[in-house]
Amino acid sequence: YLKSLEEFQNQPAKTSDGKTFEIAANIGTPAEATAAVEGGAEGVGLYRTEFLFMNATSMPTEDEQFEAYKSVAETMAGRPVVIRTLDIGGDKELPYLSLPHEMNPFLGYRAIRLCLDRPELLSTQLRAILRASHYGKLKVMFPMISNLSEFRQAKAIFREVAEQLRKEGVPFDEAMEVGIMVEIPSAALLADQFAREVDFFSIGTNDLVQYTLAVDRMNEKVAPLYDYFHPAVVHLIHRVIDASHRAGKWTGMCGGMAGDPLAAPLLAGLGLDEWSMDANSIKKVKHKISTLHHEECKQLAEQALQLGTAEEVRALLGGK
Ligand code: PEP
Ligand code: MG
Repeated sequence: YLKSLEEFQNQPAKTSDGKTFEIAANIGTPAEATAAVEGGAEGVGLYRTEFLFMNATSMPTEDEQFEAYKSVAETMAGRPVVIRTLDIGGDKELPYLSLPHEMNPFLGYRAIRLCLDRPELLSTQLRAILRASHYGKLKVMFPMISNLSEFRQAKAIFREVAEQLRKEGVPFDEAMEVGIMVEIPSAALLADQFAREVDFFSIGTNDLVQYTLAVDRMNEKVAPLYDYFHPAVVHLIHRVIDASHRAGKWTGMCGGMAGDPLAAPLLAGLGLDEWSMDANSIKKVKHKISTLHHEECKQLAEQALQLGTAEEVRALLGGK
């Protein structure tokens, strides 16, 4: 079985009736980009840049960031790379930022909230990303977006930085896509409104499940309640994908659900365009997709949207 899985690793993910999906990897460091390509990734759907910050004793400079992003761009050699801007706070700390202790860190001062409050952090990172975009196919993505004005503020900083680089004559990709993570229910519910302004969505099920179901993703006591097959989560995913397609945009998923072969028929049926996962899940998911029939998956997804419990959705997918 394992040997036959290897055969799928470097092939496109294609259903028996010929529908292909883009399969990408999640990475945290430039070194992982190499493993991603070897594992069969057609791109990077999530580059978690916070590791660059967490592994340092002081704030990485623009040049240090540029070198890291450029290295990933070059390793991926023209394959798309979605770079997520700093997602710190919540469970991830940065000693040199001395963030205040919070009662509810996951509902607090984190990610885009912190970056918009300290815009020099974001503009430095965006300069580094834009400069690196000259060396490959980079896209930028903002985490923890809960309302449209956060996106507009972040996009305005992006435009300012791009204008500076233009004036300085520094080359960058003028066509770089700018998207958001959908990991807060408010963003999923307003997907139609967002879809007019963003270039793409990437669904972060790890946080989306936590916020939709009010279940702490780190708390083992409530782990049985933490379930991406909960129909409420499935409806939000459906809503986001449909909204993006109506606007001619694409939707990816970079949360853990994308790497679960059991979820594959559902995600295929809902029309998920790009699937980003740990590199070692790629062959299993590509293999699973090869066993699917896309038209049947669409019907399956329609059925799933009628169900009332996670157990029923799992059972429909053949899981327990
Ligand atoms: C997510 O929330 O699903 C996600 C991919 O981001 P992270 O796990 O880094 O919060
Ligand atoms: Mg997240």
